[in-house]
Amino acid sequence: MTTMHETTHTSDNMSEDNLLEIKNLKTYYPIYGGFFKRVVGNVKAVDDISFAIKRGETMGLVGESGCGKSTAGRTILRLMKPTDGQIIFDGQDITKLSGSKLQQARRDFQMVFQDPYASLNPTQMVGNIIAEPILNYEKRNKKELKAYVKSLLLKVGLPEEAYYKYAHEFSGGQRQRIGIARTLALNPKLIVADEPVSALDVSVQSQVLNLLKSLQKEFGLTYLFIAHDLSVVKHMSDRIGVMYLGNLVEIAANKDLYQEPLHPYTQALISAIPEPNPMLRKERIVLKGDVPSPANPPTGCPFHTRCPVAMDICAERKPPLKEVRPGHFVACVLHE
Ligand code: SF4
Repeated sequence: MTTMHETTHTSDNMSEDNLLEIKNLKTYYPIYGGFFKRVVGNVKAVDDISFAIKRGETMGLVGESGCGKSTAGRTILRLMKPTDGQIIFDGQDITKLSGSKLQQARRDFQMVFQDPYASLNPTQMVGNIIAEPILNYEKRNKKELKAYVKSLLLKVGLPEEAYYKYAHEFSGGQRQRIGIARTLALNPKLIVADEPVSALDVSVQSQVLNLLKSLQKEFGLTYLFIAHDLSVVKHMSDRIGVMYLGNLVEIAANKDLYQEPLHPYTQALISAIPEPNPMLRKERIVLKGDVPSPANPPTGCPFHTRCPVAMDICAERKPPLKEVRPGHFVACVLHE
């Protein structure tokens, strides 16, 4: 993953290395009110984020629920309409694509959902569920398609016989494997995984995560991995972006972020990760108050209402995301 500044430099000429570039992306939900149901405000779910992901890389996106990470993922895949900004995928600006052009581009980017059961049609055989996305794009010889779907089942660690069964006959972990096989069917370049293991038992979470890792190697996939669980994101990601109230407040390589978080919000999140070794345990930073409403975000730094080290200036001015060490970006006046 490259970062905002690199993104800016390549704004007119996308780096060959980058599969995805996001520039000043905003996704607002209108709030309607009054007798005439006019737009009276906006929920700023994603409020001006920029980053890029290199081919073959995994970028983690982490933050508390409601921070905008899922909306960001859905907007990037064009499941939602961006309010502003640009999404450049594999050299093509997909921000405003619609109709058949968007449908065609979608072949290359797919999503793994949190709840595998909700995303699998209960009335269809598993084989048909996995084959469906392919048939949306092309005609295939039946025998050949069946063999391909069975090979996908084997790739995700399920037996070929799973082809003839129904989603309810499988456990949560197995259903997520079926969801992953369906995602792989079109041989995508980018997969956005939105909380892919948070609905699963802890005992099967690592199996699914390791499967995603091995598939990444085998198929040369690029991942945007969204989760609220910092341990899960740490396990999966090369680089990580931390989101708070629709903003990216820190981006760094995995090791840098966990060993030396710079933003007070990241420091608080990391201090809450359970550390089994008592010698390495650090004092937990407990944040006061709740996350403010994205319909009425605070002025200045979005974190100032909860920041343990906030100063007067923090309420007045929003600090930009700045590179303070090579590859380490943070939005905080303490590091300007
Ligand atoms: Fe805290 Fe101020 Fe830094 Fe925001 S800018 S994180 S309020 S110190």
